[in-house]
Amino acid sequence: MTLRRKLGLDILASKYSYGEDPLHGHTSVQKIPDRWVATTCGYCSVGCGMFVGVKDGRAVSVRGNPDHPVNLGKLCPKGLSEHYTLEAPSRAKHPLLRKQGKFVPVSWDEALGTLAEKFRATQERYGCDALGVISTGQLVTEEFYTLGKLVQLGFGTKNYDGNTTLCMASAVSGYKRSFGSDGPPGAYEDLRKADVVFLIGANIADNHPILCQHLEANPRKTLIVADPRVTKTAMMANLFLPLKPRSDIALLNGIIHLLIQTGQLDCEFIANHTTGFTDLAKFVEKYTPTYVSQITGLSEDLILKTAYLYGNAEAAFIGWTMGVNHSTQGAETVNAINNLALITGNIGRAGASPFSITGQCNAMGTREAGFTSSLPGYRKFENTKDREDLAELWGVSPDRIPTSRGLAYPDIIEAAVRKKIRALWIIATNPIVSYPNLDVLKQALETLDFLVVQDGFHPTPTSELAHLVLPAAIWGEKEGTFTNSERRVSKVNRAVNAPGEAKPDFEIFLTLAEKLGCREELFPGWSTPEHAFNEWKLVSKGRLCDYSGLTHELIEKHNGVQWPFPAGTPEVSTTRLYSDGRFQTEDGKAKLFCIEWTPFPEQPNKEFPFVLNTGRTVEHWHTRTKTGQVPILERMSPNAWLEMNTRDANALRLKPHDRVDVISRRGRVRNVELRVTEIVAAGQVFMPFHFAETNANQITQSAFDPISREPNYKQCAVSVQLSRASKEGRGKGVTEVPLEVSQ
Ligand code: SF4
Repeated sequence: MTLRRKLGLDILASKYSYGEDPLHGHTSVQKIPDRWVATTCGYCSVGCGMFVGVKDGRAVSVRGNPDHPVNLGKLCPKGLSEHYTLEAPSRAKHPLLRKQGKFVPVSWDEALGTLAEKFRATQERYGCDALGVISTGQLVTEEFYTLGKLVQLGFGTKNYDGNTTLCMASAVSGYKRSFGSDGPPGAYEDLRKADVVFLIGANIADNHPILCQHLEANPRKTLIVADPRVTKTAMMANLFLPLKPRSDIALLNGIIHLLIQTGQLDCEFIANHTTGFTDLAKFVEKYTPTYVSQITGLSEDLILKTAYLYGNAEAAFIGWTMGVNHSTQGAETVNAINNLALITGNIGRAGASPFSITGQCNAMGTREAGFTSSLPGYRKFENTKDREDLAELWGVSPDRIPTSRGLAYPDIIEAAVRKKIRALWIIATNPIVSYPNLDVLKQALETLDFLVVQDGFHPTPTSELAHLVLPAAIWGEKEGTFTNSERRVSKVNRAVNAPGEAKPDFEIFLTLAEKLGCREELFPGWSTPEHAFNEWKLVSKGRLCDYSGLTHELIEKHNGVQWPFPAGTPEVSTTRLYSDGRFQTEDGKAKLFCIEWTPFPEQPNKEFPFVLNTGRTVEHWHTRTKTGQVPILERMSPNAWLEMNTRDANALRLKPHDRVDVISRRGRVRNVELRVTEIVAAGQVFMPFHFAETNANQITQSAFDPISREPNYKQCAVSVQLSRASKEGRGKGVTEVPLEVSQ
């Protein structure tokens, strides 16, 4: 405290006084900015437009952009407090190299020189593919495009994937199998225009809250929500389907069976635009209401009602998120959803679409421009012409373009355990909290010869294990574009400078290319993200995700523009894919798949009697690297909790707010607060996955979708016991309880 303060001469007027803001009226002077910078939210894939208020070079406030078509001025709690992340105490500010076991600040020159030398040495000794790279959905598209070229052509490794595989890979694989290409077909406007909105495993009220306003703006819709848990979204539904965990394929097959029986089909669309209907019709015959009721736990009446409502809709929308994707049958569940939309002609029309609601702010950008599960522009690794086209655009030999995708994220981790991957570069992600079955991951990271973590934050549970930490600029400190779930490309702008020596990822990639001696070959004359954008426009030209008519200026002028936007497009308007009924398959027709329902891999038993479901809460973002640093969000949701049904809690003689341990075959999460609630059904428990301190991924399993490689985060078998802390509390005069679970 200063002397003036001690003497009462300084009353902290600059901190606590109020003034008049031209936009907000009477408000704290601290929050009245000198200028507003237009940008796009850096958390989720809804893609809200916002302004960052800047005062004296610091971000002091955020407000929603009222003219942005996605959010019309509204923001959720994360967006409204996003500026706090920029000055978080845990921001990474200097390159750090581990020397004799300790992190030592080093120059960028030494950091990137060491990275280049170590990665090259590893590749010379063990082969090019001994280097793995795991990126994120948080970078701007210009950075993904640059990184993809650098990794695949500069380093020459194809073992590159993103944490988007933990999130949206099943949607990607499902789209590719049904339609011949990735790409969500619909638009948010469809939520306003559909007469039936069917959400499956999608708790948008917590995870994509601003989408709810599009639903609210549609008074004539019927909202059907299928979820094992009575989520906030389920509470908004006209018809709630509390189905058993992972029984959605049976439900979808049952609806298809009923629609075929009642003839509620679009026969013309089926005949002209799909293949496989005869097989599908025969296949679903066994999915009678009685059979589906046994699998899903839903009454036959509810199943009939759902089929009736969906079948009679003029325009029906099916949205899904992680309840579908986080499964060993995720890609196939997406195919079952697409089946339902296709046989009823609910695609490519206003209000009618199957629609994946993506996770991260720019997961779509990495899918379009990255070099992970597809070549840039949704080109296929295995297609010779696609590889030749790309090589020609880049002026390189086609031999340098891989003919198959490299290892997916979980396979990179397993390869590290087996010492096939010896060096790993992790960019803007925190797998120590987000990856399933934590012990396997720890083993993988500890086995590596060299681990580089490039992030805006340090320490994180992952960066603490690194040999080299590269400090990166984050949202608010760099420029480029994000693509949201509805294919809207929005501008991201720099409001303030990055702290310390942190640099935009784009600059890090170019400097590294220079160290490797490939900057001029791969990135000739590039110095700004716009250079990458201009090349990406050429590469995307003629592809489904055509950006060739876009410019940064046009995107800003319209508050985001949806692709495809080929050069010469006369005006900006809502776009939908497949409106002409032509799909990206060889014969131009969408494929219908016969998808068999199977139970999830780890069923409960006497020892582990509960099915654990994991998920998110509105206040936090993924592993809390950012939101854990925002005081208001932390205060609203400071700890993890476990939801348990009243019946189970009574059987275990557990009480609300008891501290419990959650145990699976793989580990134990200790000391979690118990919430006794009817939100989860008996036999199921739910826990949020954001919290490193009580990490749900200590107990989730290493089970992955064989098609998409996405983890089965949503179901594993656990038991619940009173934790030591609660036992000690009860020992002080409170009744001791038995810890055996009665079934
Ligand atoms: S809904 Fe998503 S994009 Fe919109 S403000 Fe919230 S976190 Fe940001």
